[in-house]
Amino acid sequence: MRSHGKRLLVLGAGTAGTMVANKVHKRLPDWSVSVVDRDDVHDYQPGYLFIPFGKQEPGQIRKSRRQFLAAAVEVVTGEIDRVDPEGQKVTLADGEVLGYDYLVIATGTSPRPEQTPGMLGEEWHRSVGEFYTYDGAVALRDRLSRFRGGRLVMHTTELPIKCPVAPLEFTFLADDFLRQRGLREQTELVFVTPLDGAFTKPVASRELSAELSKRGIKLETDFLIERVDQERQVIVSYDEREIEYDQLVTVPLNMGADFVGRSGLGDELNYVPVDKHTLQSTAHETIFALGDASNIPTSKAGSVAHFSVEVWLENFVELVEGRPMTHMFDGHANCFVESGQGKAMLLDFNYDVEPLTGDFPLPGVGPLRLLKESRANHLGKLAFRHIYWNALLPGRPLGLPAAMSMTGKHQEEK
Ligand SMILES: Cc1cc2nc3c(=O)[nH]c(=O)nc-3n(C[C@H](O)[C@H](O)[C@H](O)COP(=O)(O)OP(=O)(O)OC[C@H]3O[C@@H](n4cnc5c(N)ncnc54)[C@H](O)[C@@H]3O)c2cc1C
Repeated sequence: MRSHGKRLLVLGAGTAGTMVANKVHKRLPDWSVSVVDRDDVHDYQPGYLFIPFGKQEPGQIRKSRRQFLAAAVEVVTGEIDRVDPEGQKVTLADGEVLGYDYLVIATGTSPRPEQTPGMLGEEWHRSVGEFYTYDGAVALRDRLSRFRGGRLVMHTTELPIKCPVAPLEFTFLADDFLRQRGLREQTELVFVTPLDGAFTKPVASRELSAELSKRGIKLETDFLIERVDQERQVIVSYDEREIEYDQLVTVPLNMGADFVGRSGLGDELNYVPVDKHTLQSTAHETIFALGDASNIPTSKAGSVAHFSVEVWLENFVELVEGRPMTHMFDGHANCFVESGQGKAMLLDFNYDVEPLTGDFPLPGVGPLRLLKESRANHLGKLAFRHIYWNALLPGRPLGLPAAMSMTGKHQEEK
């Protein structure tokens, strides 16, 4: 059965929403595809990491959303206020109502400093810095350019966060930055995490902890922050540990969009519960959540958005043509970890397989190395900005399989 002329409404025109709109428009040309976002500013968020170190310019990572959306996709600019799943409609803050046959929620996740007492305040974006927003990354660049040594503390509030390796990357790049400026000797670098190790999974945690200690970076684990004391320049945990800082760089609690919670569609962090293989809402058949907005148990990353959209599209076409959905997203994530000195590591994993050491994509050849530093990995990470703007967002095929492969991975004895 062919499907005829229905309406897909996509909430959010970031990484996932842009890909969804472009791909559906191409595959189902008689459908009407509309996308809603609050503004016309699309940031390449992985670039936020490089701005504080002067390694990328703000202008290189910010573009108009419209230019990445196919001309036939309707773009609505407005703040999403509420979804009415039974009535199949969405209300914007200005009162406009948009109906849909199918809805994709792709409104991502964002840092919420107001959720931790004392984090916001006079010193926000000064001695309490962050790089998870454009403004925060630019402000931190100015702080670091004036930094003359002391205690530099990289802190993560709670998981999940988008790009969970970014705090580690920041720490490695800070180490490199300080060495180049002759400031490393007079700086104590501290990595503070709510986890019991440097990362979530055992092999990656072991390899990444080793990289921290190789660089003389102190690791503080199991730190659940209760408040920031801006006056005394300390962060305080629930078990009353205190960590002093001269410059704090924090990743605030990340949460999904508030309208998700208001509409009764989210969990306690406003993430939409979905079937982890089909990305379909567990409560409403006509709703899907893609990208960071869902509760799937894998990294919140652009690579996950990319792989999951590819699998989702095949299922969506089957669904609207009246067939059962037969494709299963495996949770595939692929993350480069900048480690300084022009090198990076690569992590490749899915729901069932943790990040392992090895070669990628070809055993013994690579050219990329898994969980080990290499120059090729770093070049891969840098190249990705161009791929993002020119191929990924427009929905062009990248030739990367959506499903994770075990080829080249070293399986360790447990
Ligand atoms: C510092 C940093 C480094 C990163 N590095 C990497 C990396 O190296 N590799 C990688 O794969 N990923 C990386 N990521 C993660 C990646 O950027 C995200 O996972 C990806 O952008 C998620 O896409 P998304 O479409 O789900 O959300 P987004 O791209 O964030 O888009 C969400 C959209 O929804 C809109 N929106 C939200 N609420 C509303 C509302 N109420 N009304 C209207 N519009 C709304 C927003 O304006 C936004 O445009 C990084 C992220 C950060 C912050």
